[in-house]
Amino acid sequence: METTERTLFLIKPDAMQRGLAGEIIARLERRGLKIVGMKLLRVTRELAERHYAEHVGKPFFPGLVEFITSAPVIAIAWEGQDAIKVVRATIGATNPVEAASGTVRADFGLDKGRNLVHASDGPESATRELALFFAPDELLSWDRDVDRWVAE
Ligand code: UDP
Repeated sequence: METTERTLFLIKPDAMQRGLAGEIIARLERRGLKIVGMKLLRVTRELAERHYAEHVGKPFFPGLVEFITSAPVIAIAWEGQDAIKVVRATIGATNPVEAASGTVRADFGLDKGRNLVHASDGPESATRELALFFAPDELLSWDRDVDRWVAE
């Protein structure tokens, strides 16, 4: 059964520095996903530690926090049929070297510490991460005329 889902997506500092935000957003928009929340923000150390709580203590954690706080990011809430899986499949594996060609990480990256984007990996993390980046009134429900041509 398909379900309509929302997922948290981040365009990370490397993609912002390289001017790839528009190109990356376009790929997800063209798949038929709908933007229901979007903002430019600077991730604070505190937000980074909450967002990446599962990685606290790992060797790459300090570098990850330095990186994610180093420049603004764009946070997007995408909505659509099976949105969590669809966004993960569109961005590809964590390590761009292993990401399938045609995915964002394979097409624009080569290093797992500079992998351009983040996307929630399941329903629980989507709920948790959306709440970290967006207040409830920053997420908008809206209908598009095209939605009936995107999914049955
Ligand atoms: N990361 C890293 N080195 C590693 C593993 C992960 O720099 O060895 C970073 C990378 O930016 C990754 C993030 O930590 O996107 C979170 O890791 P996770 O395994 O949750 O991957 P993701 O969900 O982003 O694909």
